Amino acid sequence: MDVAPDRVGDRPHRGDDADRGERRRHRGPLLEADEQDEQRHDDDPAADSEERTEEPGDEADEYERHGRIVRAVSALTRLAEAPDRAAILLDVDGTLAPIVQRPDEAAVPEEARRELGRLVERYALVACVSGRTGEDARRLVGVDGVRYVGSHGLELAPEADRWRDEIHRFASTVDWPVEDKGLTVSFHYREAENEDDALEYLEEVAERARTAGLVPRFGRKVLEIRPPVQADKGTAVTQLLEEAGLKRALYAGDDTTDLDAFRALDGLELGVRVAVSSDEAPDELVSAADIVVDSPAELLALLQRL
Ligand SMILES: [Mg+2]
Repeated sequence: MDVAPDRVGDRPHRGDDADRGERRRHRGPLLEADEQDEQRHDDDPAADSEERTEEPGDEADEYERHGRIVRAVSALTRLAEAPDRAAILLDVDGTLAPIVQRPDEAAVPEEARRELGRLVERYALVACVSGRTGEDARRLVGVDGVRYVGSHGLELAPEADRWRDEIHRFASTVDWPVEDKGLTVSFHYREAENEDDALEYLEEVAERARTAGLVPRFGRKVLEIRPPVQADKGTAVTQLLEEAGLKRALYAGDDTTDLDAFRALDGLELGVRVAVSSDEAPDELVSAADIVVDSPAELLALLQRL
């Protein structure tokens, strides 16, 4: 486990737009943890026994690093101290399930499933928030008592359902293999013979979708067509926490869409943002995180402490 540079201890953090930096300066979670932590530190004679033998510059860096780690650990400790007041919210692919070449071959390790079962017994809410359909996430994770929210939060937006037929009607006019995700459809081109031709065709499709009042979105070798509904993993997290009446949460994710969920923790009484890092992880996610782990296995080790 590593504590994200510039995050837990240093506000404002680098990167991102000014608006976001502004919000972060004023958000509460770890600031509150800081104060409690300092309190504990004062009371704890062991805390003063840290080594202070480095050169002045190194000492400052080391002291700062130490402070960040203490604050992150303190936030986790506080979360675990009152599990009946907290939610554990997790992305699925790349977070619980290691990334594999083909999404249909993804699997959640048995040890992780056992751990989720333990967390369900202990915490007020355990939820998986996925880009898959909720049904598919349930099939993949397969732990009773976990709440599954799919399609990047669209499944919690009642108005999204009204666009279901329209999206399927539109998909039937596209001469390309379609992945039907219920509330959205995807056209993949990773395996296209000629990627330029594929992209040219799908850009036309995107334009037609826009004209039809739908929302096209290009991702990694994929065009997704979504309903014109404001919903993402962040709105899903906000809704889940409000429904459950919770103000404390940990969220773990590995991709750009998880940033929306990180932002949804701003202003909570206690929020812990965990990035599962990889070569493909976006820089913004890592710099917005309170804690960075290097793999689903390392995330599992963190969850086992909660
Ligand atoms: Mg993911």
